Amino acid sequence: MIKTPIYMDYHATTPVDPRVLQAMLPFFTEQFGNAASRNHSFGWEAERAVDKARGEVAALIGATAKEIIFTSGATESNNLAIKGVAGMYAEKGNHIITAATEHKAVLDTCKRLQKQGVQVTVLPVGKDGLVDLDALRRAITDKTILISIMHANNEIGVLQPVREIGRIAKERGVLFHTDATQAVGKVPVNVIDDNIDLLSISAHKMYGPKGVGALYVRRKNPRVQLTAQMDGGGHERGMRSGTLNVTGIVGLGAACAVCLQELPSEAVRLAGLRDRLKSRLEAALEEVYVNGSMEHRLPNNLNMSFAYVEGESMLMGIKDVAVSSGSACTSATLEPSYVLKALGVGDDLAHTSIRFGLGRFNTEEEVDYVAERVIETVNKLRELSPLYEMARAGVDLKTVAWQPER
Ligand SMILES: *Cc1c(COP(=O)(O)O)cnc(C)c1O
Repeated sequence: MIKTPIYMDYHATTPVDPRVLQAMLPFFTEQFGNAASRNHSFGWEAERAVDKARGEVAALIGATAKEIIFTSGATESNNLAIKGVAGMYAEKGNHIITAATEHKAVLDTCKRLQKQGVQVTVLPVGKDGLVDLDALRRAITDKTILISIMHANNEIGVLQPVREIGRIAKERGVLFHTDATQAVGKVPVNVIDDNIDLLSISAHKMYGPKGVGALYVRRKNPRVQLTAQMDGGGHERGMRSGTLNVTGIVGLGAACAVCLQELPSEAVRLAGLRDRLKSRLEAALEEVYVNGSMEHRLPNNLNMSFAYVEGESMLMGIKDVAVSSGSACTSATLEPSYVLKALGVGDDLAHTSIRFGLGRFNTEEEVDYVAERVIETVNKLRELSPLYEMARAGVDLKTVAWQPER
């Protein structure tokens, strides 16, 4: 028997892995020291644990321990990276390049800087969700100080060509920040091979606790400096003041260590489950469309539109399955996902999109159950849909002149 509800929304957050929890527990009680206390063993123990975690985070992304700055999560890491560069390098230039499908923590940070006089170029993406490297090259000016383009997208799972972006940034002497929140621990990430200068991480997207993350800040070729966004005790090389969240940091470190071990096999397992889900749905249903590139994609992501089936209705129909929809559920507006819009997906299809985010604790039985429930629900909702009936009868809905009601 399958246990419901089934969680298939791992891009939103993940449960803490039991191994991570075990590593964290002593630091709530016996080992509660302040990592900045230099006068006794309580402080030294906490500092030792933080240093171990620093090494574990660094190892997963090919960095050195000193290059890891602990934060409260990827929102803060993105803010610190972008505002920190804008502040520190203001004399060099005032132009930042980003992309239309970035997380709000990047886009809204850039918008705030724009109000303060920073020039921001938001690159469009293609139908596949990828930025165009020639457009990126053309966008760079002698005033450009930063390119901020994400590694993996949180809605459609599309992987940007970070290695090529890093190479272009390096050639042109521009810093490169990547929001790698969805990529780290899921696909190989290496800050040296990919010429990444700044990289954002969040623990709760990789089986660690909520409210803790990290920012990688390159120390060599070039040595990146940031203007701190918070003033205080000068923790984290002066870049992020505030008493360290030792339990959270230990959890992030342990989460990274598990990912480093399991990434190769887990990526293959999850891609297998994801492809199984996709082929079941495609075999049973007509007019279903994958959003974004399948080739350049996280192994655990599937984002599909189910024509004529409003996302909200679908979610109601599959109540015992936790997934997300690209329609209006997250906001008070009726705007569909800006990410899908940026891909050129029309409003009608964007409203029918569902994001399946698979993860460490999903099984094949769960995938089969979810596929069945989705197929059943789509068929039922389509039976009730006059639009679907008209389309089946050969009416081209785009040519219909809809009469407003009188
Ligand atoms: C979740 C997420 C964030 C925000 O991370 P928090 O740690 O929750 O602040 C930023 N970027 C991406 C791509 C995300 O998926």
